[in-house]
Amino acid sequence: MSLKSKHLRLWVILLLVIATVASAQSATDAKPKNIILMIGDGMGVAHVTAAKLVYGSLNMERFKIMGMHISGSANSYITDSAAAGTALATGYKTNNDVVGLDPDGKPLKNIMEYAKEAGKRTGIAVTSILFHATPAAFSSHHKARYEYDDITAKQVEFGLDIMIGGGLDNYYPKSFPGSRRRDERHLMNELRDKMSVVTTYKALSQLKRARNLAAILDGGHLPHPAKRDYTLGNLTDKAIELLNVKDQGFVLMVEGSQIDHAGHDNDMDRILAETLDFDTAVKSALDFAEKDGNTLVVVTADHETGGLTFPMGSMENGKIVKASFSSDNHTAAMVPVFAFGPGAENFGGMYDITHVGKTLIELVKSDEQP
Ligand SMILES: [Zn+2]
Repeated sequence: MSLKSKHLRLWVILLLVIATVASAQSATDAKPKNIILMIGDGMGVAHVTAAKLVYGSLNMERFKIMGMHISGSANSYITDSAAAGTALATGYKTNNDVVGLDPDGKPLKNIMEYAKEAGKRTGIAVTSILFHATPAAFSSHHKARYEYDDITAKQVEFGLDIMIGGGLDNYYPKSFPGSRRRDERHLMNELRDKMSVVTTYKALSQLKRARNLAAILDGGHLPHPAKRDYTLGNLTDKAIELLNVKDQGFVLMVEGSQIDHAGHDNDMDRILAETLDFDTAVKSALDFAEKDGNTLVVVTADHETGGLTFPMGSMENGKIVKASFSSDNHTAAMVPVFAFGPGAENFGGMYDITHVGKTLIELVKSDEQP
């Protein structure tokens, strides 16, 4: 072989290598049509471990790509759900207690706002009150997470297409029996002007289509999973069915909100029940995503709650003999991230919580959006 043809050969090989790298790169850049972000509030690695040990198998095991994130907020080593929800929804850190604003009070654009601009439908399905810190971070901008009167009003204004959760008592004027509002605003009337409203799971399950819908299924947070005749998986199925009607796709945020509450109470049985309920939603999202082929599912937590460990147990029957809690509050321990579908490869590794929000927003944005 002449020196010249040897050179030519080397060039061809080099070009082939470049082409291969480039095509792998564009596969990484592929944008999913739909995104389902699932948040187990307070769900650390130990909470998932417990559910796995006790129940044997989990849908969370179906993911092949995993990462871990560190959740600290702008002003605290240990985040609350407001700052963590904001980081997941916007890609930026803020102070504890703040939803959707930066530490200087400037609004941070969230993934649902980007989704609307890209022509996508938007929704949330949660087991807490709809205006609790995590869902609030995806549908409002407010300086204090517990100012529910303001947040409920801002959420109605925000206009997600589908909202499923609890909190009915905060939509009626103060003078109404059972109202938890501190003002006389009749938010239920305002809500009905903008969207269909149902207040029972039965009515929700019978709906075949809805352009805009609020399903507010309890006065406060949704009941313990054993005391409902539906799972978070059922709510997720319905949210997907109602959202999946548009070529541009949708963004859905699902939260297993009360894993956190059980962690605060150091209540192991409830942690298990809430984590299993959350796992039913993971099944619903993954089953849809596998069939659809163009849906990214990301499962994570906003922080760990309880400082949970298992100093004693039995390998033979997977029994947790003793669960030990080092805190009745949140901890700084890293939490898991699971990802499936187009764009999932971005979530392998170890990173800050803001990486989750930033990456999801990049994947939601249409190419023309700044
Ligand atoms: Zn908490």
